[in-house]
Amino acid sequence: LSTWSNVPAGPPDPILGVTEAFKADKDPRKINLGVGAYRDEAGKPYVLPSVKKAEELLTASKPDKEYLPITGLGDFTKNAAKLAYGAESKPLVNNSIAVTQSISGTGALRIGGAFLSRFYPHSKVIYLPVPSWGNHTPIFRDSGLEVRGYRYFDKKTVGLDFAGLKEDLKNAPEQSIVLLHACAHNPTGVDPTQDQWREISDIVKEKKLFPFFDMAYQGFASGSTSRDAFAVRHFVSEGQQIALSQSFAKNMGLYGERVGAFSLITADPEEKARVDSQLKIVIRPMYSNPPVHGARIANTILSSPELYSQWESEVKGMADRIISMRDKLFNTLVDLKTPGEWGHIKSQIGMFSFTGLTPPQTKALAEKAHIYMTADGRISMAGLNNGNIEYFAESVSKAVK
Ligand code: PLP
Repeated sequence: LSTWSNVPAGPPDPILGVTEAFKADKDPRKINLGVGAYRDEAGKPYVLPSVKKAEELLTASKPDKEYLPITGLGDFTKNAAKLAYGAESKPLVNNSIAVTQSISGTGALRIGGAFLSRFYPHSKVIYLPVPSWGNHTPIFRDSGLEVRGYRYFDKKTVGLDFAGLKEDLKNAPEQSIVLLHACAHNPTGVDPTQDQWREISDIVKEKKLFPFFDMAYQGFASGSTSRDAFAVRHFVSEGQQIALSQSFAKNMGLYGERVGAFSLITADPEEKARVDSQLKIVIRPMYSNPPVHGARIANTILSSPELYSQWESEVKGMADRIISMRDKLFNTLVDLKTPGEWGHIKSQIGMFSFTGLTPPQTKALAEKAHIYMTADGRISMAGLNNGNIEYFAESVSKAVK
């Protein structure tokens, strides 16, 4: 008998499984709208020119391959915090933000989960929006937190269930942890307005909830990194101690380089030093220290005014292309007299759109039209381009008629 004969087969990952099915399809018209990675106008993965330039500069500087410290490249984490919180941020200026490099956004969430599970002095319950990114539940559950949900998406309006959200946060036990998508909510593409964020901040403050922001798409929503940081900066300006996960996967296209940061706002530099010491103790047995190359790329961009402004315009270019695809998809669906209301395609924000397509419709699209998306009807807008958008719209139109 094999040692592993009692290991049950697990279910395939719902998102990566879509890519498997896409790869196996031989039809030339096939489209993959499953995975959350940007594609250029030709449908190809995109390496940002600012990233290429940073890599050239790095190669020329002949860097060594030594280990980084446990919390990563110090200049990178300083610059990452500045990007998120803003150069004028009070806790940043006062040196009271504890920050560590992480294995992209997933690693940042996991460090945060593990740190909260060990040191958060109140109930270890985290509230996630319903729905949320599929990996949030296992990340926080495996970190030792109890996962619950708060209402977020209204299927009827294909928009934000703001009344439900407020009611659920008001009814959550005091001092619970609440996870907030800072911008470009995944999977729905539905974000609160700035006024709604102010109200959410007031409720979080009043109920003494602990806000944990996941910012995986800074710059990707509006094309502006500072506009997309509004929620984070507003909470901080209200004096709230937040936790923050940052990813450079999408906004710098550094997916496989795994560049991210996790930070916590502390009371003062002395408390920050204690928190820093415990972050190291959390991280050291997980992976010892983070990879160096991607952090060097990101830091080269963030620390050079010239490359930084080039990068900002490239982020805007990606956001603008996605926004133009939203307009074109909406117009084409309407021109084809597709039954239903499609305004949400245009009003949703960021990489994804929650189309409202049902599981049987998504199944039919895969089988009949070779178009792949997650069963919840979420599409990655970045998978659309001028070469395939009409075929996509016609296929959707047929699927709902
Ligand atoms: N958080 C959200 C909401 C995401 O959509 C993603 C990626 O899809 C991540 C975090 C983490 O991604 P990564 O670990 O590649 O930075």
